[in-house]
Amino acid sequence: MTTYFHSVTLDAEKCKGCTNCIKRCPTEAIRVRGGKAAIIEERCVDCGECIRICPNHAKIAVTDTLERIHAFKKRIALPAPALFGQFDEDVPPDAIIQALRDIGFDEVYEVAAGAEAVTVGSREFMKQNRLRKPWISSACPAAVRLMQVRFPSLLEYIMPVESPMEISARLARKAFSRAGLKVGEGDVGTFFISPCPAKVTAVKQPVGEDVSAVDGTIAISLIYPEILKRVSKMKGVSGLRRASRVGYSWGRSGGEALAIAPGKMLAVDGIHSCITVLEEIERGRLADVEYIELQACVGGCIGGCLTVLNPFVARVRLRSLVERLGGEPMAVDENWAAGAAAEGFFSLRSEIRPRSVMALDSDVTKAISKMQALEETLKGLPGLDCGSCGSPSCRALAEDIVRGTAAETDCTFKLRERVQVLAEQVVDLARRLPPPMAAGQHTPGATQGAAQADAGGAGGGSDPGNAGGNAGDPGKVKGAK
Ligand code: SF4
Ligand code: SF4
Repeated sequence: MTTYFHSVTLDAEKCKGCTNCIKRCPTEAIRVRGGKAAIIEERCVDCGECIRICPNHAKIAVTDTLERIHAFKKRIALPAPALFGQFDEDVPPDAIIQALRDIGFDEVYEVAAGAEAVTVGSREFMKQNRLRKPWISSACPAAVRLMQVRFPSLLEYIMPVESPMEISARLARKAFSRAGLKVGEGDVGTFFISPCPAKVTAVKQPVGEDVSAVDGTIAISLIYPEILKRVSKMKGVSGLRRASRVGYSWGRSGGEALAIAPGKMLAVDGIHSCITVLEEIERGRLADVEYIELQACVGGCIGGCLTVLNPFVARVRLRSLVERLGGEPMAVDENWAAGAAAEGFFSLRSEIRPRSVMALDSDVTKAISKMQALEETLKGLPGLDCGSCGSPSCRALAEDIVRGTAAETDCTFKLRERVQVLAEQVVDLARRLPPPMAAGQHTPGATQGAAQADAGGAGGGSDPGNAGGNAGDPGKVKGAK
């Protein structure tokens, strides 16, 4: 059985069991049972939707601390393009890079630079593989995992190219070993400055790769105050930026697709919009689109739940940065990148496999019979999808019942029906009770005899004297009276 790592976890102390999160989850991975939320590990894609929606801040993303960078002799920061959209226009990329150095990183390699290399690698891949369409971006790990869980038939459409984060980590190690970081390979630590929990999970448990080239992840929200207090005092820093406007554009929705396939491309942001588009592809539509960028967060990576700025404001700031950088060419050596693509430098190392967690049983016959049971159970549920049972919909509750993880009485309507039936039965039984005994008639022998005598009377024609049955000694009954 696969063990899953997740950045997104529950702080059970803070959870009030309000059920707000269960309906927002794109893979129906949350249940509320016993007054607390629980995540079904194999279904969670670390999209962070539940972190955004929880009013009690009970869902959190686990990332590395800044102290962890000191476990390595040499430290390389890999800031996501989204980081550069978190600051005012008067804070240039050079200042942010210098601030990262001041915080304790020996080198900084912008993931925007890796994104430019991936842009060339992806274009080369598409040139060689024109027949299959549309190609779907592999850059957003939450979108890729969503497809593993909910759209396994579409996995073959995912472009088998590494993410800018992975490519940046590899390029950074090469660049800095050439520049003479005089330490062993294991003493160099690469840290992604992340806008989202899905990237944290992608580092700890990569898809399409056995081991990530990244050693750790630090949330943008964690490092932002440290950068902010340094850049405010910085003047005239220059010459540190390596990426161009194309790489920085990857931080917002549309930047990646425009860079790779400016013709027939589609850029989709927000995980629920991604689901809508994937359903369209499943129905055989969108075959005229060449490239589809899927970003789980609204606005793209700038909308990640580990950023600090409102995504709409961050989008404007990143666009303004891109415009200021003007029409400069990509910083990556395109000839080198095309050659590297031909040698497989950008290719995923392993196949992306489905996570068959939605199937009711691995045995087809059992799965069919469980599906029939599910449909039958569903017919008996009210169909309101209210979520008060702790499952996201009536169908999900029916599925949980068939899987044996819930009971019909978890549905408040079914529980009310059952309580009503029980109450009626109790009333009915109460009506059959014998009248209360007079004072002094409560010795066990007397009570039993009297009750049975009464019941016998009701049956008509029984001999009251014999009503005590086997236990009833008529003499004793009499004697008791
Ligand atoms: S939204 Fe979910 S995690 Fe947050 S308090 Fe409600 S049930 Fe708990
Ligand atoms: S992170 Fe996303 S997939 Fe995971 S439980 Fe939360 S909403 Fe569901």
